[in-house]
Amino acid sequence: MTDLTALTIAQAREKLRAREFTSVELTDAYLGAIEAANGDLNAYVEVTADIARDRAAQSDAKLASGDGGALEGIPLGIKDLFGTEGVHTQACSHILDNFKPRYESTVSQNLRNDGAVMLGKLNMDEFAMGSSNETSYYGAVKNPWRASQGSPLESVDLVPGGSSGGSASAVAAHLCAGATATDTGGSIRQPAAFTGTVGIKPTYGRCSRWGIVAFASSLDQAGPITRDVRDAAIMLQSMASSDPKDTTCSDLPVPNYEASLGKSIKGMKIGIPREYRMDGMPGEIEDLWQQGIAWLKDAGAEIVDISLPHTKYALPAYYIVAPAEASSNLARYDGVRYGLRVDGKDITDMYEKTRAEGFGDEVQRRVMIGTYVLSAGYYDAYYLRAQKVRTLIKQDFEAVFAQGVDTILTPATPSAAFAIGDKEMAADPVKMYLNDIFTVTVNMAGLPGISVPAGLSADGLPLGLQLIGRPFEEETLFQTSTIIEQAAGQFSPIKWWG
Ligand code: GLN
Repeated sequence: MTDLTALTIAQAREKLRAREFTSVELTDAYLGAIEAANGDLNAYVEVTADIARDRAAQSDAKLASGDGGALEGIPLGIKDLFGTEGVHTQACSHILDNFKPRYESTVSQNLRNDGAVMLGKLNMDEFAMGSSNETSYYGAVKNPWRASQGSPLESVDLVPGGSSGGSASAVAAHLCAGATATDTGGSIRQPAAFTGTVGIKPTYGRCSRWGIVAFASSLDQAGPITRDVRDAAIMLQSMASSDPKDTTCSDLPVPNYEASLGKSIKGMKIGIPREYRMDGMPGEIEDLWQQGIAWLKDAGAEIVDISLPHTKYALPAYYIVAPAEASSNLARYDGVRYGLRVDGKDITDMYEKTRAEGFGDEVQRRVMIGTYVLSAGYYDAYYLRAQKVRTLIKQDFEAVFAQGVDTILTPATPSAAFAIGDKEMAADPVKMYLNDIFTVTVNMAGLPGISVPAGLSADGLPLGLQLIGRPFEEETLFQTSTIIEQAAGQFSPIKWWG
């Protein structure tokens, strides 16, 4: 039998419906692949084999009688940030030890309603804070990609990006057909770029945040990481919905995303923001960007130079707004209501000991930054000012869209994947934060953004291009990224893991 895990969601969907194999067979193929590979890659923190087989059998019953949802019988991985009823949901933090919610997040429920089969929970940076998946309490995730022979990185384990590093690694290594992920400043798009996968962060409010562990509530969005653009359209279709349980979730109907694939982009106006051409950007990133521009031009798009003047303030403003919201959201982990408790001589001592032991270094850093910028003496100077900058960033995009620009093309990341334990980044957190230089603006403005594999670095590692769209125009992103995907061709790592 052919390797069932090699199929995309779209392919598996057809073959399941044609009864060429069953969902139980497909699920078993994935469970076998996970068992063989997870020791090497560390992409899953919990494998829910029984639940998966059970749901697959239910899907097979439906498929046999000719019904079933859009994802009936398709095995997916779920990021550990999504609340899953009765199942490991710890945001990969020590402080949520043994926490199993009594609820299911709206997004994972939507997938389940459409027939998806959950294979397990995926590793991630603790509370989704990070760009390398090295802050997880469960240890670093490895990127299935390795640098080509002769590269200085040749025999080095690489990061898959973060915070959705488990999702990206699992998708790239075929340990699930697709995965859920979340993106607060780049955590879907950056790991997608580092692993040669597709990741879309939809418009803020397109997917419900209900039941997802909160990091920075005004920035957090769920989205899929998949092997190709079609699969991203299929998964987002299911994940997106309105939701009375999340007042920031949009009531706009979810369009048919798959229908936008393959539509011509002739006459579409694509903006190239001059501020994204930063000093010190590696030549290969610039070349990739130029290649993307050429592909879209060849497909009939009109390329226009645009300016987003406040871009340079996006990253500093993000690192005020996101920690501020995080410090408030994380106040609930006090040793009383959830997970870990470290006893102390009185309640304050218990809080302090629990939080000191339960939160990792990066999370503690964010809490400290957040409480500082929200404190009475510094609120106006930092938090309020960052909010004003955020408005200016949003207005930059609005002005460009008002000029008729349909979508904006940028690199997804300033580099390819780097080594686990990279010394420069470990020594200076700001170096790590710079990974999100091209992605955070999109969260600050609440816009949709997609990362699509576009080429390989000199070291033979995948690189992504990002497309940014108007609010709730994810279709334009699918339509345009398909052109890049077709021009760039397929990207798969060479298998070395078990
Ligand atoms: N890397 C960014 C951070 O650490 C973004 C994380 C995310 O999008 N969840 O905050």
